[in-house]
Order: sequence, then C-alpha cells, then structure tokens
Amino acid sequence: MLGIAMGAVLDGVEAHVVRVEVDVSRGLPQFSIVGLPDSAVSESKLRIRSAVRNAGFEMPNQRITVNLSPASVKKRGAGLDLAIAMGILRASGQLPPARAPIGFCAEVGLSGALLTVPGMVNLALALRRAGIHRVVVASEAREHCIPVPEVDWFAYGSLQELAADLLAERLRSPLDFAGSPFLDSERAVSLADVHGLPAAKRALSIAAIGRHHTLLVGPPGTGKTMLAERLVTLLPRLSDSAALEVFAIHQAAGLPNRPSHVPPVRMPHHTVTAAGLVGGGTPLAPGEVTLAHHGLLILDELLEFRRHALETLREPLVHGRVRLVRSGHSRELPADFQLLATLNPCPCGQRGFADCRCTDTEVKRYWSRLSGPLLDRVDLVVSVAPVDTRAPGDTFVPPTPEQVAEMRGELTRRQTARGRGRSTEASDFQADAKAYLEQLGQRLHLSLRAQDSVRRVAQSVSVLEGESTVKSAHVEEALMLHGDLGRWL
Ligand SMILES: [Zn+2]
Repeated sequence: MLGIAMGAVLDGVEAHVVRVEVDVSRGLPQFSIVGLPDSAVSESKLRIRSAVRNAGFEMPNQRITVNLSPASVKKRGAGLDLAIAMGILRASGQLPPARAPIGFCAEVGLSGALLTVPGMVNLALALRRAGIHRVVVASEAREHCIPVPEVDWFAYGSLQELAADLLAERLRSPLDFAGSPFLDSERAVSLADVHGLPAAKRALSIAAIGRHHTLLVGPPGTGKTMLAERLVTLLPRLSDSAALEVFAIHQAAGLPNRPSHVPPVRMPHHTVTAAGLVGGGTPLAPGEVTLAHHGLLILDELLEFRRHALETLREPLVHGRVRLVRSGHSRELPADFQLLATLNPCPCGQRGFADCRCTDTEVKRYWSRLSGPLLDRVDLVVSVAPVDTRAPGDTFVPPTPEQVAEMRGELTRRQTARGRGRSTEASDFQADAKAYLEQLGQRLHLSLRAQDSVRRVAQSVSVLEGESTVKSAHVEEALMLHGDLGRWL
C-alpha cells in the first residue's frame, strides 16, 4: 500500500516542495529512505520510529520504503520528519489518505512532540506555489509564522494531537493573527533634514527615482556615509508581496528581523569575503546582495573592499540575480538591489576639492583599483563637497517616498509606451534632446552602455522636473551626473 504526504525543505534561501511516497510491503522488516537523503534524514528514521510508537501507533513490521522526490533536490535537516511519519501512517492504513493537500513542516521528537524547523515562511511560499494552501507546523513554531496570503497555518504540539484530528478527518482552526505582521518603524531621519548639499540631495533623489547605482565621491568628513544611509528614507514602501519575499529570505538566513515594508539596507564591512557578498558555503548561505534584494547595498569606502569581492558584484548588478555553481549544480538567488558606494577622490582625499598632495600617478593607480566592469554599472557619480556654512540656504526639497513611487510609475509608463512603439522613434525624448545625446555620445566616445545609462538618468531627471518629455537640459544634467571621472584624474 502506498502512502503519500507533502513536505518542503530549505536549501539556502530557497525552499523546495518534496513529495514523500511510502510503500509498505511484505518482506523482511526493513526501513529505507531513498532520494538523496543526507545523514540527518537517515537519523530521521530513528526519531520517526520512536515517535510513531510513542504516539500510540504501530511501526509496521514490514518492508518500508520511503521515496523523497524530486531526487534532484538535496534534502537537509529534519524538516521532512513529520511528512515521512504521515506517509508511513497512511501507507499502513492507520490514518486515512489525504482528502485535500496539506504540507507537513516539522521535526518529530522521540516522544512524538513536534519541533520547529527553520525558514517557515519560505516553506509556506514554496508549498503555495505548488497549490498547497494548508500547512501543519509545530505549536512552538507559531512565533515564526506570519500571515501569508492564501495560506492557513495549523499548529500542533504532538503527533498524537495531529493524528487524532486527521482520524476524525478535520483540522483545528488555523492560526489567527491579530493586527498587521508588518513592523514599519517610523523614519527617524530624513534627507530633507540635512543642512546644505543641495546638489547631492538632488542627485540622490534622481538615484531613488530610477534606482540608479550611485557612487558618492568626496573628501573625508563631508557626510558621504550619512547621505548614503539616508537614501532609504526616499524609497517607496515595498508592496506586501515584495516585503514577504524579503522576510522569507531573511528568515531563511537566520536574521531576527520582523516583516517590514521598509526596503532592506545592507552595509557590509569592507573585510567581507566574496562568498559573504554574493553567497556561498555549505549549506548555501545567501550573500549581502541577496539580503539587499528589493533594497539598498551600501559599500562605504569602496576601495577598502577586496578587489576580488567587488568583481563578483558584476553579475548581480547586470542581472538582478546571482548564480552560484555548487557541486555541479547551478543555483540562482535573487539579488535585485540598488548599489550605493562612497569613495575618497584620491589617497589624500582632497583632489578636486582642496589642495591635493597626491601625484597624478598615485591618483591613477588609486582609481584603477576599482574594477572597470563595476564602474561601468554605476549610473551616477556624485561629488559631495564640504558644506559651505556661508552659502545661502538651499532650496532643493527632496521628494517624499510617496512622490518617488508616483515618479517611478511614470517612468514605467513611459518605458512601456516606448516598448510598444513600432519604431525606435517612439520615445519620450524631444528631437533636439535626442540629437544632443547622440552628438555627445560620439564626441565623448561613450560606450553604448554609457549612452543607455545617460538616457535612463535623463528620464529620471525629466520625471523629477515634472516634465512629460526629456529635454536637452535633462540630458546635460544626466551627463554631468554620469560623472566624467576625468574630473579627478
Ligand atoms: Zn590627493
């Protein structure tokens, strides 16, 4: 007789649904599990045997074969215990077969107690994708569960309690969550509170609108880091589904965060390794780029970072995902982040702003430590000069996160309209702005990528200005912001 139960396992920050098939047949008593089990799954056998007996059921004294499919998924940890136990009880006719799909996500203790497993929200999201909307978890896992649309959580303390309900063909009421699961801390600081630096504030606003990767360059002590940290205060709140996705990643990575609509901000120390930045290790741990998914990755003092680590950023900067090859398998993790980096203009830190003591060769060598491919992906290079306290009060007021959200909507509408146009002429660029961009591209020998970057930044400038088309002035500002690095060389 065949018994089937559904479970899910965590691998890195991804979860996979696993179908547990149990066959109980005549033959010498034997208990085997097939489908790439690691040692923890083999240890499950001991726990499941005791748990089944202590829950008042019989462990069939026959040939028990457990198949975990798909075989290609590496199963780690004890998270399949409960699903395997359910499969055995169903295969031996001690529990009725499932009438509607249920996902079982718990470890079992020797006494039959259900124990919590890591990454509950990720497991539930994977089960939901597979059409399973009811998830049974351990009572003690309750604190790790949050409302997930179209998912009902059922918490049980032991195999005994669960089996009693399943025998009666019912489940207890699903977990009821009072209030919102989201902890949206109020923004204590804002970019608008920063005294002076109107040009930098404007550039950061443009960066927020277009999610442009940005480099802040200036002498030490000008507040580059403070500005970088405040970019998040301009960013629109995440949608519920994006916030849930971010939370699932952070929970699977073992971070003690609560779900939040505020985009994540990651600011790794410059000693971070390549694996720490993009992910790696066994079991696979997500890197900073994945933890910054839908949010900001701030690299303070970019040149202090290891060159090798910075070079690994190229792929996620291009694709918004990071691909890791592990034991012959290629794995992809989400990494759609906005990069914000800070940098001194030269070794002494004063070039372009005050008296620089560095030789040209030293400055060239300094900048050459930045990898070309990384620099290629930076859309904005913003100078942050020391605040001149005698300067008149600045008049630039950064947009609110709600305004930035509207401006992003406008950008998307324009890009969609452009995509639908039958020719490349269908564009939001005024004719003279378009000609200006082409002419500049030729004169300055801009690569196609650089031209594309300037085009996108010009669109963000035009949206910030509340204009419906891109004008020459917007192209000019975009080109300045794109940063001719020659300024410092
Ligand atoms: Zn210098």
